[in-house]
This record gives sequence, C-alpha cells and structure tokens, in this order.
Amino acid sequence: MILDKDIKQQLAQYLELMEGTVLIKVSADSDDISNTMVSLVDELVSMSPKIKAEKSKLLRTPSFSINRTDEETGVAFAGIPLGHEFNSLVLALLQVSGRAPKIDQKTIDSIKNIKGEYHFETYISLSCHNCPEVVQSLNLISILNPKVTHTMIDGAVFKEEIESKNILAVPSVYLNGEFFASGRMTVEEILAKIGEAPVSENFADKDPYDVLVVGGGPAGASAAIYAARKGIRTGIIVERFGGQVLDTIGIENFISIKYTEGPKLAASLEEHVKDYNVDIVNLQRAKTIEKKDLIEIELENGARLKSKTVIISTGARWRNVGVPGEEEFKNKGVTYCPHCDGPLFKGKHVAVIGGGNSGIEAAIDLAGVASHVTVFEFMPELKADSVLQGRLYSLNNITVLKNVQTKEITGTDKVNGITYIERDTGEIKHVELDGVFVQIGLVPNTDWLGETVDRNKSGEIIIDNYGATNVPGVFAAGDCTNTPYKQIIISMGSGATAALGAFDYLIRN
Ligand SMILES: Cc1cc2nc3c(=O)[nH]c(=O)nc-3n(C[C@H](O)[C@H](O)[C@H](O)COP(=O)(O)OP(=O)(O)OC[C@H]3O[C@@H](n4cnc5c(N)ncnc54)[C@H](O)[C@@H]3O)c2cc1C
Repeated sequence: MILDKDIKQQLAQYLELMEGTVLIKVSADSDDISNTMVSLVDELVSMSPKIKAEKSKLLRTPSFSINRTDEETGVAFAGIPLGHEFNSLVLALLQVSGRAPKIDQKTIDSIKNIKGEYHFETYISLSCHNCPEVVQSLNLISILNPKVTHTMIDGAVFKEEIESKNILAVPSVYLNGEFFASGRMTVEEILAKIGEAPVSENFADKDPYDVLVVGGGPAGASAAIYAARKGIRTGIIVERFGGQVLDTIGIENFISIKYTEGPKLAASLEEHVKDYNVDIVNLQRAKTIEKKDLIEIELENGARLKSKTVIISTGARWRNVGVPGEEEFKNKGVTYCPHCDGPLFKGKHVAVIGGGNSGIEAAIDLAGVASHVTVFEFMPELKADSVLQGRLYSLNNITVLKNVQTKEITGTDKVNGITYIERDTGEIKHVELDGVFVQIGLVPNTDWLGETVDRNKSGEIIIDNYGATNVPGVFAAGDCTNTPYKQIIISMGSGATAALGAFDYLIRN
C-alpha cells in the first residue's frame, strides 16, 4: 500500500467529488520507481469506479498522464506525485473529471482563448512547497485548453535531465524546450508571461479610496478586512496574497489553530479578503508614494491610485549577502530555499551562510541529503538557539566556520566555491562547493518609499501606537515597520491597528 490509512480516507472524500470518468495512461518499466508508481495508480483505480487505467508509452518512463476517456488533456506526471505534489495529483483527477476549478470566469476565458501551442515541463522536488502552485496552475491551463500540455517532472527521478539542463533550483519551468521561469507562479502570472493575461482594468477610472492597503501578506489582509468592515471604500494592492507565509511550511503558533501550512493560510487570507467589498488591484507592485491633497501611489505599470489614507504593509524579503557571484549564480547554485532545492544537492558539498536559527535549521536539514555542509558565520559565535546548536554539533558531516566573512561566491556556469576571510587573522581561504544556501535574515521592503516616510537605520518604517507614520494619513503595519517582533499574529494585529488608526484619522479629518 502506497497511501496510508488517513490519507486514503481523505482521498476517498475527494474522489467522491469526481464528475466524469478519467483514464490514466501509464508508462512503466520494471524498475522500483515504476513499480511504486503502478501501485499508486492501482490504488487510485481501486478507490473509484470513475478512474480507469491502461498501459501506454509516454515520452518519459516512469510517468502517467490523466485524460478524459475521449480526449487527451496533456497533463502528465513523470515520477511519483506524492509529498507536496499529492494535492496536484488529486486536483488533476478532479478537474479532468469535469469538476469546475476555483478561478474566476475572466481567467477561464483567457485560458480558453490561448491561441499558440504551449508545451510546458516543470522540474520539481517532492519536498518543495513552492512547486505545487506552478504544477497546479499549469495543469489547470492544460486541462482547459487542448493546445497546452504540461508535465511535472520529479528531478530526483530524472537526474540526467536535471544535470544536462544544469537545474539547481526548483520549480524550474521549460516552455517548448526552452527555459521559461523559476519560482512560484500563479495562473494569472503565467498567462501574463505568455502574453495572454485577462483584459486588465482601466486604472484611470478608479475613484479615490478611503483606505488603500499596499501588500497582501498577513498585515495587509488584516488591514483590508478591518477597513472594509467599517463600510469605507477600501482597496488593496497585491503582488500576491500571502507574503512570507508562502515560504513557510508548518505554522504551529497561529493561536487557536494548532497546525497549518503556509500555502493554506495564504489561500485563506485571500478568501477572507474576497468576502468583503475590497477592490483588489491584483499582480501589481507599488513604485512610489506622494502626499498631495490625497495620497498618490504610482504602480510599476505607470498607473496612479489615489486615497485619503494609505496603509503600507509591504513586509520583508530574504537578505542578500551582497558579495560578487551571488546575483550571477542565483538559481545556478545560490539559493534561499533549503526545503525546495535541498534534494538537488544530494551527495554534494553545500554551504549555509548564516548561523542564526534559520541557517542552523537549514544546515541540519541539508546534512540529511548533502555529503557535507559547511556553515559560515560572520560573528565569533552562532546566534541559533542552543537546542539547535546541540543537534548541529551531533552531526558528523557539518563543519562550522565562525568569525568568517564571505568574500565571493565563485563559479563558471554554476557555483564551485566560496572565498572567505578569517576575520581574526585576515587570511583568505577558499572552499570548493556545489551549492550555497543564504540564510542571513530579512530586510524590509521599504526602498520604494524614497524620502517620504521616516524609517530607522534598518530601513523599518517608524510607527506610533496607532500605526501612524510621520506623514499624516499614511499608516504602516507588519514586518516593514519597527515593531520589535516579526510574526504572523503580530502582523495581523498591527494591520488591524493601522486600519482602525486610519478610520479614526478619516473621522477626525
Ligand atoms: C521561512 C519563514 C518561516 C516563518 N515561520 C513563521 C511561523 O511559524 N510563525 C509566525 O508567526 N511567523 C513566521 N514567520 C514570519 C511571518 O511570516 C511574518 O512575520 C509575516 O508574514 C509578516 O507579514 P507582513 O504582512 O507584514 O509581511 P509579508 O508576509 O512579507 O507580506 C508582504 C507582502 O507585500 C508585498 N509587497 C512587497 N513590496 C511590495 C510593493 N512595492 N507593492 C506591492 N506589494 C508589495 C510582498 O510581495 C508580500 O506579499 C516566518 C517567516 C519566514 C520567512
């Protein structure tokens, strides 16, 4: 049995929702992975009369495609979609069976109108929490449009392909054989990238808002909901809902919910905001802010939005080391996501830059797949909690270099090492490596504010107890502010404070 009892129980409930019959075409040999894949397909067939399977010969073995009985959909899984991809498999079964996807009609129409032929391939790892969104988006496009196909490829199974294409970060998407994109992507982003985005709104026609929120993480979502509940005209500019939550796997301190996962919480944030009368300016980034009669936000697409008050909740992003080689070798050995890209460095020597909690957690995780992990810490001592340090030092394939400064990440077509300085002696040394995981904390997304809003020396927006900044009518919340602790629940609380502060300001002015 491939699926355990609990998963099978949940799966059975989903399979009840299937509408028509699906036909799984299976391309298998006699190797172990093929056998496991065939067992998985057999188990699916045994669970629903609406799932049929037959042997076939597909482009890759082991792989299987999911089709309607009278039509190929172009959706295929090369490898075994368990781990984080299990949901992608379940969704594909439901959607191929005719179950309507949860996206708006405008986007469905755009997908159906795609004219060209698009053959997508997504290389993933089963431990990558960023991969399912891309796999599910491309599967959906492929299911709705017969001219589009999509194959999910597990890099751990198709190692030669990964090596020949020099793929060192997942998800990596190829289109018609050429590199297309890496990283998380929504259906809308994919459509925009192939020039098939839904017709965009006319931003010039938008009336001024009472409250305009910038950023769709926990702080922004909370601010938008609190503002909308006051019955005032509320807008939110979202590059994507979720923010850093999307980079988080297990969340165990979101009080009253014992355990949840980042993508699930991000989807709930979006759903909750959509429950209210909030104008969502989707897939847009704010570029500048200016205080005139009203506050004006210019978007990167050139449009200007006006509002009586603004709540800045643009959060934070991974801090770069800022040394030569980092930019050049991003996705070619330099990575920020140990969960996603760790499996691509199986049996290899990798470095983790950063000896805080996230760096040491990454090193411990990576020690399970890599042959050796070298940790680089700038300070004379690690900053990680002692429990983590205890675990770190119990592992025999980790070297810790303290009091060292990374000077350069070296490589040719991909990373081959790090040059560093021993800070007490000034001696320059070099370590040969296959990958570098950067884990040195976060930096606030506040560069776009220019000189308008006061910030501290770390770039964090300075706010008062009401979430107000130095600019009348401009409020801020969450990780982009000088709040001392950065957590989901704290961001949500500060989003609520800023919205109530903005409402108070509107009443008084
Ligand atoms: C790996 C990891 C694990 C974590 N685990 C936990 C945990 O277990 N529990 C916990 O409580 N906290 C955890 N945190 C911290 C938590 O995720 C953050 O405190 C929280 O997400 C901050 O919310 P925010 O809305 O302030 O900012 P963010 O989540 O950073 O959201 C900001 C949003 O604004 C958008 N944005 C940025 N610039 C612009 C712009 N110019 N225009 C428009 N939009 C923009 C971003 O794209 C993003 O969507 C974790 C963080 C990380 C990185």
